[in-house]
Amino acid sequence: MEYLGRVISLNESYVEDLLKCSHILTDFLKATEYEKSKMQTKLMLLLMKYESKSNLMREVKNIGKTLKKNEDKMSSLIEEMEQIRRNKFLKCPHCDGMGGRMTIKITRDDWVATPHMVRITCPICNGTGTLTISKDLEDHVGLFIRILRDIVRSERIIRKMIQNIVNSFGG
Ligand SMILES: [Zn+2]
Repeated sequence: MEYLGRVISLNESYVEDLLKCSHILTDFLKATEYEKSKMQTKLMLLLMKYESKSNLMREVKNIGKTLKKNEDKMSSLIEEMEQIRRNKFLKCPHCDGMGGRMTIKITRDDWVATPHMVRITCPICNGTGTLTISKDLEDHVGLFIRILRDIVRSERIIRKMIQNIVNSFGG
């Protein structure tokens, strides 16, 4: 199922973003602490990666934007899946909802070869372009929706945390 791949890939990029986010936030909090305690050498070493504290701050903001983009993609996937669950069918992935495809067939009559356009009916959906989803698949879709919703919820909490950091440390 194509949706499983999309759920997995969105989740993977979320985990990646989260890891990056955690590194950047840790660096940011350390930098703030070093600054407060006037630990200049440690601060300099830490900021070497970012060149300056304002660049580090920009990274913090950027990771928030990246998370938001991922969250938007998840929300639209949730919307798509909700629609499938409501309608109880999905677009046939084999023919992309076309119900079949056109192809050229050549017939030979004595010396003459004549090309004809013929329509080949999709063997998966029998030409309807849609697939009715089974109870099993419906349950799967429901599970994916729940997983995605949980991820979106946690993503929002993290974005809120980033926003709080940005607000309280001057952005
Ligand atoms: Zn089909």
